[in-house]
Amino acid sequence: MTQPAVPEVPARLVFAGGEWTEAHARVIERTPGWRRSSALTQLGLWLLAPVVFWIPPHVPWVLLVLGLGAVRALNRFREHRTLVSLRGACPKCGTGQEFGETGRMKQPHTVHCASCRWELRVDVPLSGAVT
Ligand SMILES: [Zn+2]
Repeated sequence: MTQPAVPEVPARLVFAGGEWTEAHARVIERTPGWRRSSALTQLGLWLLAPVVFWIPPHVPWVLLVLGLGAVRALNRFREHRTLVSLRGACPKCGTGQEFGETGRMKQPHTVHCASCRWELRVDVPLSGAVT
């Protein structure tokens, strides 16, 4: 799957004490249509239920597949924004880094500094690419 070109937008890394630094983020704003279709795609995992039923001890595998499909679908349905990349300096220790905690953005979305391990809040204005 090729990743569409997502422009980098200014963001803020905010420490609990109120200090903040400029950062650069790439964020995809998800439309309700994308979230619905992506959630339905994840529910496709349920199609494996009749297959895994034949593996002993039968019922736990079916429950696992149904639960996994439901959780993945729910997470996709709640994915209003996707953080593709984030780089910037930690407001606490000043270490510049590329943050790896990408994916579905929570409200608020937090990342951890690789150097000092403090939790940082990520603020990104609404201006990313829309899919
Ligand atoms: Zn730090």
